[in-house]
Amino acid sequence: MMPIIVHTIPAFTDNYIWLFHQQGSSDAYVVDPGDAKPVLEALKDLGLTLEGILITHHHNDHVGGIEQLLTQYPVPVYGPKGITQATEIMVDGDTLDVAGTSFNVIEIPGHTLDHIAYYTASEPLVFLGDTIFANGCGRLFEGSPEQMWQSLSQLASLPPKTKLYCAHEYTEANTRFALAVEPDNSDLQQRAQDISKTRAENKPTIPSTLELELATNPFMRSNQLSIKEAAENYGQCKVSTEAEAFALIRQWKDSF
Ligand SMILES: [Zn+2]
Repeated sequence: MMPIIVHTIPAFTDNYIWLFHQQGSSDAYVVDPGDAKPVLEALKDLGLTLEGILITHHHNDHVGGIEQLLTQYPVPVYGPKGITQATEIMVDGDTLDVAGTSFNVIEIPGHTLDHIAYYTASEPLVFLGDTIFANGCGRLFEGSPEQMWQSLSQLASLPPKTKLYCAHEYTEANTRFALAVEPDNSDLQQRAQDISKTRAENKPTIPSTLELELATNPFMRSNQLSIKEAAENYGQCKVSTEAEAFALIRQWKDSF
């Protein structure tokens, strides 16, 4: 089986739109096209034809370009319930076969209630919208901390080498916060240096990998003693569950 190639399309100030196709094929699929223009340009530059649109959640910076793309490419739109343009509603456990690859749909509520991820074990990689960022996680606009922690835990059970295709370049700001939470984490210190170098060269820090996030991302590490202690110190209270530690770290980041 031929691997899939994922192209990075920067959009707005810090969004990434992902365009992918099977190696050797010009049939392409786009994930979360918040803006149509850079997607149409990338298709033209790369000599690809759009065959489908995958949506992770309903925020406008992820769906805003759908209508315009459909006027030029009347293709299927895969997305969670609540996406008005979706022609195929995807729910937990669904399989989506595109670009010669089989994707599993995983429901990961928290950032929004309708949020889903598309995971393929064949690479392995996951398109996960605004749920995990490099050294960060999405804000809780709709879901509870318990729901988000459950979603992060579910993603944490994927293979460690899984590439995480997050939808924003928030990595430097996230890393400043992560260092405030866990200043003695040597993996994080090393990663902070790597990130500074990458961003100084104006290169994307995404995709990340699950193993990297499990080593340095304070939100993904809410089950670790060092994060529990940092959460207790921040909240000036006793923390008894992983979800409570997560909730406090999220609250801390919101006012950081
Ligand atoms: Zn969002």
